[in-house]
Amino acid sequence: MADGALPREPGASDTPDLGQADTIDAGFVLDKLRTRHAHDAIYTRCGSVLIAVNPYKRMGLFSEAVLAQYKNAHSLPAEPPHTFEIASAAHRAMIHNGRSQAIIVSGESGAGKTESARHMMLYLRYVSNTSPELETRLYGSDPITEGFGCAKTVRNDNSSRMGKFTALNFDPSARIQGASLNTYLLEKTRVTQCGPGERSYHCFYALLRGASPALLKQLRLPSAEPSAYAYLAGGHTGESGGERTDKMLWAELETALAAQAWEGAALQELWQLIAGVLLLGNVRFDAANTDAAAVEGSSAPSVAGCEAVLGLQQGSLAKALTKRKLKVGGDMVEKDLSLVAAGDNRDALAKAIYSKLFDRLIVQINRALAEARNIYSPRATAHVIGIVDIFGFEIFEKNSLEQLCINFANEKLQALFTKTVFAETMRAYSEEGIDAADISYTDNGALIQTLEAPNTGLLAILSEECVVPKGSDEGFTEKVMAQHGKGGIIVRMKGVGPKDGFGINHFAGLVNYGTRAWLDKNKDPLNGDLVVLMQFSDNELLKELFTEPADVAPAAGDRKKFKSTKFKGVTDTFSAQLTDLVGTLDKCDLHFVRCFKSNDQKKPDLVEDAVITRQLNTSGVLDALRVARTGFPDRMPFDEFCGNFLVVPGLGTKAELAGKAPKDRVLALLQKLGVPGQKFRCGKARVFFASGMLEGLRTRRLEMQ
Ligand code: ADP
Ligand code: MG
Repeated sequence: MADGALPREPGASDTPDLGQADTIDAGFVLDKLRTRHAHDAIYTRCGSVLIAVNPYKRMGLFSEAVLAQYKNAHSLPAEPPHTFEIASAAHRAMIHNGRSQAIIVSGESGAGKTESARHMMLYLRYVSNTSPELETRLYGSDPITEGFGCAKTVRNDNSSRMGKFTALNFDPSARIQGASLNTYLLEKTRVTQCGPGERSYHCFYALLRGASPALLKQLRLPSAEPSAYAYLAGGHTGESGGERTDKMLWAELETALAAQAWEGAALQELWQLIAGVLLLGNVRFDAANTDAAAVEGSSAPSVAGCEAVLGLQQGSLAKALTKRKLKVGGDMVEKDLSLVAAGDNRDALAKAIYSKLFDRLIVQINRALAEARNIYSPRATAHVIGIVDIFGFEIFEKNSLEQLCINFANEKLQALFTKTVFAETMRAYSEEGIDAADISYTDNGALIQTLEAPNTGLLAILSEECVVPKGSDEGFTEKVMAQHGKGGIIVRMKGVGPKDGFGINHFAGLVNYGTRAWLDKNKDPLNGDLVVLMQFSDNELLKELFTEPADVAPAAGDRKKFKSTKFKGVTDTFSAQLTDLVGTLDKCDLHFVRCFKSNDQKKPDLVEDAVITRQLNTSGVLDALRVARTGFPDRMPFDEFCGNFLVVPGLGTKAELAGKAPKDRVLALLQKLGVPGQKFRCGKARVFFASGMLEGLRTRRLEMQ
């Protein structure tokens, strides 16, 4: 297709808005999406939601001509559905209503969230003036967030392994004046292990394939081959398969980092940390010594290299990885760590270095953005348009704490979603002059409370179990079941022991969570000796990263001190971030984009029904449509209703009703049909029916004819 042309809508009879349909169910929506996809119509409206089906092929839908089409459109609903339409709706609403706007993009991994968010950003840049400085800093930071936050997975060659909220600040004349970035829940485990066919974060491969041999040597990296590093060797070691090669990314990273003031010594230190992580992975322990871990002889060069790039004293790292200082009485003694504990220690350090570095990169991006803002417009921010790009609901065969966090986030966003849809429904009724005061809907508030209530909620129980003496995963599971096991939201998990897990009835379905290692995952412990070692590093960056206030697990003897300074686990931090995000979103008008994969093979022109159905259930779209139809789900314009029912024998002649206004004709017909008053409402131009009523009338018409 020529660039710049929008595909034709499949035909007038095929409405691009599913929200207008008479009845809604999964089969109907699936059918529509399939037909539209076959005509290259990848976007479909569903009431206030845009469904975007990943085409897995370039469609030429994002050219300047198309941007202009949406910018200049007199009526957005008259245009074909598009991500630009959503961005335009948000932008127009901001200007007309003077309110901040947010667009929530969600979907499975690989469904097209990041692409969709990018398209909407493109539109917002196109319609609003901004300064070149801000432009460069915001869009120039993309390689950094991608290089350090994205990885190849089996689902997506360029999968974002974190949630992201980008906010654009507009000044009173609707010019983009500043921007900021928040990220959530970076996947740390990927730093130390990646499964078959997957890779670790792109930056490792970019460094190895892009950097000069001289730099690699300086960084003490013995090889440019990813397979030479234990943390990478277990996965796919070739190129990501995405559009940019590792070498290209390296070049982009060099430019992007320089623009964020990563230069000279700071830049060198940054890559030293990345090299340090790779070298740490190559530190092996003698398998023979299970009780008192010792670094294997052949790992000596890795240890020495690691100490060099991390700016540590010779000999200090091996000791800190294999031994632990303990206070016994008034004395400090050294205790040997087991083989397993030493391995955990090493991996925990690698993860901590990487995730702290990632956070720092984001801080630096925000710092640069803040500077650019002052250059351009000192005026106060009037409004914000935010875009949330966050992992959708996850139901895997095995689900753990990571899935709970993601699904918890999705529950919170779903609550906003249904609230928005319900408010819109009520607004539509009120515009039609219909009294809807007695209509209500059920939301997922009870489930959210079950998870986040202070003291009694599941997350509070988890953090409490992390600090009580002899706390255990089993103890946690038992306490959750004792507190919540009877409410129907948290249920026994079939096929495992009662202390090994539970099921949660999410809006998207039942998810079984195995609770093994939850306490450890929540504590995310890093041995205090290692923290101290990092704090004394000659690498200024590393030193700084570990000197910032951190949630460090205490040495065993320090439990008391630990308890008095309120424990904050991974889930507490995330929960606080989430509350913050929801608070921000709650002040905005909300728009929703639900991204769908068309198939699991990343193939163009293929729709797999089961794949779409799975996502319909987890996306909450059907639920929202049901809420949108609360009270009087079926509707029909007056004319259409008269046209349909005047032909029914015995309901009066056309002449008899001819003189009446459309609404009175409808009322007269309804009376003759014997429809009770509480089963319908007449609006200004349409008649609304309670659930099942219209269906019944249609059947009767057929029978009477
Ligand atoms: P997610 O962020 O949901 O994990 P991405 O946005 O990274 O998914 O999309 C995954 C891949 O799917 C992209 O790299 C691209 O190849 C393809 N894709 C997604 N959206 C589109 C689109 N609108 N047009 C063409 N290809 C797309
Ligand atoms: Mg993504």
